[in-house]
Amino acid sequence: MTVPRCKHFDICGSAAYQRVGDDDFCALHVPPKAQKANASLRPAFEQYVQRGGCDFRWMYLPATAGVSFERQTFAQHVDFTGASIQSVGLANSRLLGGLTVDTDANTVDLFQAVVEGPVLVKTPRPISVRLARGEFGERVEVQAGGMLSLDISYATIAGFASFVAPRMEGLNAAAVVCKAGLKLEGLIAGWSLADITVHRLFDLRSCIFAGGIVSLDSLTGDADLDLRGAAFSAAFSLRTSAIRRLYIARTRFGGECDVRAPLGGRPIAVIAEDTRPTFLSETRLTNVDLAACLIVGNPIGRLHLSDAIWPTWQRRRVLYDEIKLRRHADAAPLRSVEEAYQALKKMYQDKGDHSHAGDFHYGEMEMRRHDRSNWRSLACWEFPYWFLSGYGTRPAWSLAWLCFLTFVSACFYYWLGDHSFGEALRFSVAVATLQKRDDPSGGWVKVLQMIASAVVLALFILAVRMRVKR
Ligand SMILES: [Zn+2]
Repeated sequence: MTVPRCKHFDICGSAAYQRVGDDDFCALHVPPKAQKANASLRPAFEQYVQRGGCDFRWMYLPATAGVSFERQTFAQHVDFTGASIQSVGLANSRLLGGLTVDTDANTVDLFQAVVEGPVLVKTPRPISVRLARGEFGERVEVQAGGMLSLDISYATIAGFASFVAPRMEGLNAAAVVCKAGLKLEGLIAGWSLADITVHRLFDLRSCIFAGGIVSLDSLTGDADLDLRGAAFSAAFSLRTSAIRRLYIARTRFGGECDVRAPLGGRPIAVIAEDTRPTFLSETRLTNVDLAACLIVGNPIGRLHLSDAIWPTWQRRRVLYDEIKLRRHADAAPLRSVEEAYQALKKMYQDKGDHSHAGDFHYGEMEMRRHDRSNWRSLACWEFPYWFLSGYGTRPAWSLAWLCFLTFVSACFYYWLGDHSFGEALRFSVAVATLQKRDDPSGGWVKVLQMIASAVVLALFILAVRMRVKR
């Protein structure tokens, strides 16, 4: 007669201990509902672990049985899938093959643990996970269906670290080192984010920070910070050299926002390519690159910019909103972009930066001109202003027009009169420069040239003045 085997013999390799319904189970696999006082559980467990057992799938390991995983070394991947266990206590242990906890456990403790393989913790319920001071050689992934209480302080994680839960409370990430990136997702209430080190990607997409100030000033490393769709209820501060790119499309800054790369250092590229962020309070952007950042829609008066790098369009500095507008019809309305340019022009004028102010003046006039239907954009005052002097910012254009007018007029004088061309040209120059020449020839051409030249000359002088003021 053969000895009956446990239903999960492939896991435990044990003989049957108890029959429940139609199935046989070993002492470790007896289902919870059939468990009463299972005196054999603890000895069976200790024997199993001593034999090098790492696979705890479908086992029933109640806290009352007194089983402990602490200070042990597990050579293989430790798997708790489907196990009935409340608290997975692996503090100070060494897990050479990684860990999977896919159960209803409410606590996973890896305090000071050394885990060389990947860690996956997955539960549909609330859970408390402690990875503090642990060392993790590969990726760490925690997905909770309920509230997650997370402590990763002073841990070192070599792989990508991802923590996703509908809500996190008391998040402690102080001094954590994430060498391949860190992702947090959910509503975060209560956090400590001091002295974090993140490389490659710091992913806070769609995170909602409810409550106090979020300061990433002490952040170190070299990463992109992704805040797309995130929301901050209070102030946000990022004054660090650790961030290369900052993604803020759809980000909502409820309090003051301060983004600053050290002066003289690499600027932070602030990126919002498809949807603008929302700044609800004073916003300071220092040493930032706004080459791909939509802004229009936010009150520019709340924006304090210094050392901002703007994108260029036809050799003038513009708002990314204008570039977007020229490429897609469905971008921000022209009128809003015009207002933004007006505010930026004033901001730079107040700072005495006439070079920037001139470019934004040009942008403002461009938006005003294009805010008309096609034919009206040609038949408005802005058109000749643009055409003849680039809205008063391009003296070279005016000068070219003046030369052209003088030359064309000279041709007329040559054609109408009986002078040599050289004489006709000299006469034309004299008219253009409003010198008195009592020469009866010319007639109406002379009158028209005088008026046109006077206008262009005035525009030229204005444009030169604007240039010199810079
Ligand atoms: Zn078994």
